[in-house]
Amino acid sequence: MYTEFQEYLKKELAQIDADGLYKRERIIESAQGAEIMVAGKKCLNFCANNYLGLADNPELIQAAKEGMDARGFGMASVRFICGCQDLHKTLEKKIADFFGTEDTILYAACFDANGGVFEPLLGPDDAIISDALNHASIIDGVRLCKAQRFRYANADMADLEKQLQDAQKCRFRLIVTDGVFSMDGNVCPLDKIYELAQKYNAMVMVDESHSAGVVGKTGRGVTEHYNLRGKVEILTGTLGKAFGGAMGGFTTGRKEIIDMLRQRSRPYLFSNSMAPGLVAAGIRMFDMMTETNTLQDKLHANTEYFIKKMVEAGFDCKPSQSAICAVMLYDAPLSQKFAAKLQEEGIFVTGFYYPVVPKGQARIRVQVSAAHEREHLDRCIAAFTKIGKELGILK
Ligand SMILES: *Cc1c(COP(=O)(O)O)cnc(C)c1O
Repeated sequence: MYTEFQEYLKKELAQIDADGLYKRERIIESAQGAEIMVAGKKCLNFCANNYLGLADNPELIQAAKEGMDARGFGMASVRFICGCQDLHKTLEKKIADFFGTEDTILYAACFDANGGVFEPLLGPDDAIISDALNHASIIDGVRLCKAQRFRYANADMADLEKQLQDAQKCRFRLIVTDGVFSMDGNVCPLDKIYELAQKYNAMVMVDESHSAGVVGKTGRGVTEHYNLRGKVEILTGTLGKAFGGAMGGFTTGRKEIIDMLRQRSRPYLFSNSMAPGLVAAGIRMFDMMTETNTLQDKLHANTEYFIKKMVEAGFDCKPSQSAICAVMLYDAPLSQKFAAKLQEEGIFVTGFYYPVVPKGQARIRVQVSAAHEREHLDRCIAAFTKIGKELGILK
């Protein structure tokens, strides 16, 4: 059998490559940080989700080591058999305190949190009303659930209202949105979503993966940004982005919802518990977040500076309320050429084009971090300007 299957795979792979969609891994030979080593050369990293610069933080590394020394390397169990230590309960409490919610359930990743949140809560009589640009893990989670599906155009409140009207016949309604949309950097209009949810008797879920730690004056995410702390029924998020960048996911929100997930959520029931080292580092990380706001302040100042200077240089940047700056180039081959030339200049970024973003909307996505110093930002802007002139984008 495999000979035929192999032929089939080879053909498919060749087609992916011919379409220019083949993903190649770029090998990093250092720790994650503002400066990384790529192919023996120092680069400035502007494409990590390492928004607070915690991925190589010595305090977190130390906390992970101490956690491993005290509680071992792994749990070798799911939570409800023998995979729950005091550390896991402490981290869940700290996450709930951070977001102003009632309880939290940990997962191996936010992909699992989203994969396991809908099916236990909603059935065929219910409605999930989902933003068209929501993350793949939300789309997959919704697919696993028998609820009726409604979709509204990205952040389009007139469309959301129409979908809510159509969903009035259903028993329960849940509106689902990303907190920050990762390709544009826009924050979801949670104030308006919340108003519509009140008007049409619906619940709200926000995936805070790109917004937690970043958005809001103290980085508490979009519920802080819109002054809606504790008002949203469900939040999901990751420890793999701003919160240290290792791994781990969570769902946090109303007590009974979390209770039900502990009974029925399949990635929680049938997948291994988070490793003690990561949990211990997570606890230390949330303590750091409550002790000081310096990282958020630095990130916000860096982002504001970067976008202002890029616009002044003449680049077409999408309006952003996050640490993501989408530099619009529109043309797919141009975005790849631009990114490659930036790498030659020692600036590590990624060019995105169809199907990751709509056709004719190719761009370079720059992710600003608290790990960046002003000098790093200036070097990045200078490289963009140089290549922009070379490729005739800037006058
Ligand atoms: C990154 C991301 C996820 C996945 O998080 P992991 O913890 O890496 O699985 C889920 N949702 C959104 C919106 C994300 O950006």
